Amino acid sequence: MVTGGAGFIGRWLCKSLLEKNNDVLCVDNLITGSETNIKEFMKNSRFSFMKHDIVQPLYVDGIDEIYHLASPASPIHYRKYNVETMLANSVGTMNMLQLARENNAKFLFASTSEIYGDPKEHPQKETYFGNVNPIGPRACYDESKRFGEAMTTCFPDVYVRIIRIFNTYGPYMSANDGRVMPNLINQALTDKFMTIYGNGSQTRSFCYVDDLVKGIYVVMDNFHKGPVNLGNLNEITILELAEKIKQLTNSKSKIIFHPLPKDDPTRRKPDITVARSLGWQPEINLNSGLEKTIEYFRQLK
Ligand code: NAD
Ligand code: UDP
Repeated sequence: MVTGGAGFIGRWLCKSLLEKNNDVLCVDNLITGSETNIKEFMKNSRFSFMKHDIVQPLYVDGIDEIYHLASPASPIHYRKYNVETMLANSVGTMNMLQLARENNAKFLFASTSEIYGDPKEHPQKETYFGNVNPIGPRACYDESKRFGEAMTTCFPDVYVRIIRIFNTYGPYMSANDGRVMPNLINQALTDKFMTIYGNGSQTRSFCYVDDLVKGIYVVMDNFHKGPVNLGNLNEITILELAEKIKQLTNSKSKIIFHPLPKDDPTRRKPDITVARSLGWQPEINLNSGLEKTIEYFRQLK
């Protein structure tokens, strides 16, 4: 079962689980996802879709594994759906843990690098407790993910795993979710202004979605007590990213600067020593990941 399976990462996870000959139940209320993302699986007899809000209890049996990804994920989405985000990661996580317990199923919670907030430790290790503003504009997301991690650890009798996903990108990201990748790529492809928030010196480390999906399996299937960071080590400034996208798209766009949103993290890069010890590391470099993502958005035009 994949909650949030009609979203960006969930779609790729469903696809991969089907390719491995699993039966897949995708549960999604489509608040930020789309049926278009899973349209190609609908004819597959191993795939089923249930439109359901996981904040409401769910009773299904025959579940072996729950990948709990359901939550708005982009700053624009979680600000718009702030209460829904808090509930998906708190009550929704509790509901999915109870379902895992009833089914004796394995459970994986998709947490985030956002739980580190604007980090004072760099790169971020799993042992770092973070620097989060509990009442800031990102709080509904950061704090509910922290709560979701705490909730997950309240079920010691269930086989649980926690991953902390760092910025992940690829085809099927929503074109209008406001995240930097779809924004800059679509602006570049249409020769519109490319918007940088702040002076562009803030950094992120971008992981291609195929690498992330492989990491999800590695964490689900191997033992490690505690959360595991999944992300790419290639740290880049947002201005460098914009210039790279401009070059790869051969765009005539002009780069313009807008004010930096409050509490926007200044630096982010994972320490992936734990994931490496489990046998995972990202393989797809930024240029080849960007080329695939640019091609996807080009075809949508
Ligand atoms: P997304 O918005 O594309 O997908 C989220 C999916 O969850 C959507 O299909 C949405 O409709 C569904 N959903 C939300 N609330 C729900 C609810 N109450 N009941 C049922 N379905 C619900 O986002 P994404 O980028 O694919 O992110 C997936 C997960 O990974 C999220 O939990 C997110 O916090 C986490 N994550 C993603 C990133 C990233 O860079 N993409 C980084 C860190 C963490
Ligand atoms: N960003 C930007 N221009 C945009 C969208 C985002 O400069 O059009 C910046 C944003 O302020 C942040 C970084 O890019 O510093 C990554 O933003 P995103 O929303 O993708 O992810 P997050 O902030 O959650 O890491």
